[in-house]
Amino acid sequence: MQISESKRLFAHAKTVIPGGVNSPVRAFRAVGGDPIFISKADGAYLYDADGNAYIEMINSWGPMILGHNHPLIREAVIKAMESGTSFGAPTAREVEIAALIVNMVPSVEKVRMVNSGTEATMSAIRVARGYTGRDKFIKLEGHYHGHGDSFLIAAGSGAITMGNPDSPGVTSGTAKDTLLAPYNDLQAIENLVVANDGEIAALILEPVPGNMGLCLPDPGYLQGLRDICTREGIVLIFDEVMTGFRLAKGGAQELFGVIPDMTTMGKIIGGGMPVGAYGGKKEIMEFVSPAGPVYQAGTLSGNPIAMAAGLTMLDYLDTHPEVYSRLNEIGMQIASGISSINQSLGLDFTINQLGSMYSLFFTQESVTDFESAKTSDTALFGKYFQAMLHRGVYLAPSQFESLFLSTALSDDLIGKILQAHEESMKEII
Ligand code: PLP
Repeated sequence: MQISESKRLFAHAKTVIPGGVNSPVRAFRAVGGDPIFISKADGAYLYDADGNAYIEMINSWGPMILGHNHPLIREAVIKAMESGTSFGAPTAREVEIAALIVNMVPSVEKVRMVNSGTEATMSAIRVARGYTGRDKFIKLEGHYHGHGDSFLIAAGSGAITMGNPDSPGVTSGTAKDTLLAPYNDLQAIENLVVANDGEIAALILEPVPGNMGLCLPDPGYLQGLRDICTREGIVLIFDEVMTGFRLAKGGAQELFGVIPDMTTMGKIIGGGMPVGAYGGKKEIMEFVSPAGPVYQAGTLSGNPIAMAAGLTMLDYLDTHPEVYSRLNEIGMQIASGISSINQSLGLDFTINQLGSMYSLFFTQESVTDFESAKTSDTALFGKYFQAMLHRGVYLAPSQFESLFLSTALSDDLIGKILQAHEESMKEII
């Protein structure tokens, strides 16, 4: 495989962009080698600057649930562009997408559009603080909520991959209001509630975390959190930036039947354009300016092109329930295929899968939280990543990520992925 153009671009990029990339994990630091530079994407494939094709297993970190360059989304964007790219004033499309989100996501009675998942989570915490009049909030270890200051404490995703789960630049004054607990541990939450009686505004979590690799909630865990938050007047926030519109059209909250007070969204909601959103109970969302006193704004929020892409995506998902049964099938075929290949090779690695999300952990421990995720052999993961890449399969370049599958994966491609897996395992073990 020739990757000389990617190498040339990366060398140049490093002279003008910190680390050569606009988001850290893209640099392939955790897996070795230089990143490949992408020139185009279509359906289930990414194409690099040297013309190599790769089967997509991340799909832009989640948004491209229908595969790349979907004709409906492409047409909607082109059509919207003919009427101008930004107005900074309200449009009918924003009302339409808000109404659709309210209809699809059980906890959302009102919603505000922003430009990224980071903006959504930062804003949701501010609103929860304004609503409760309390300062502190609980965040779970290994969960990632974007790069807002108060979330970069025991953070997952790129933060742990780069070895900076607690980023320099976050002041101790900010950090002291972020309380930490492990995932799947209700007693730890009870202990924090006792130790910070009446001071906790919110509990934010990924209901099904993907940012320490994919972990699943223990039975009763999410309901247990719901009960504690209701009892203590704490705003329960599900960060569904990854899981929203993916695990079900109403996200993890629909799948598990546990309804938070607020929900943060991103990724799929923009159909590949930069969009995020936060929403929840009317009573809480009425605190957002100009309805209420909590300030939050955005020059490009509700951008007409981004809304056209997002609206087309959400409308498609809302009206095509078969997408979710197909995604479940794809996820199960890949995960069970990997498991049986591993077994036949005498390997006992853990694989967690739910619907179209999965992670293969290079550990024999069952992975249920940040501590168990960290028992993975990240060097071996790096070799696996490279072996798969050289066989034309593009995985997330870190052990601490979930993969995001799309409906563009045919049975034939699933066969190719499994064959690449078997060959890669034989090569690296
Ligand atoms: N929340 C979760 C659960 C995420 O996975 C991410 C990004 O991966 C974010 C928030 C931040 O979203 P963005 O990268 O759009 O700012």
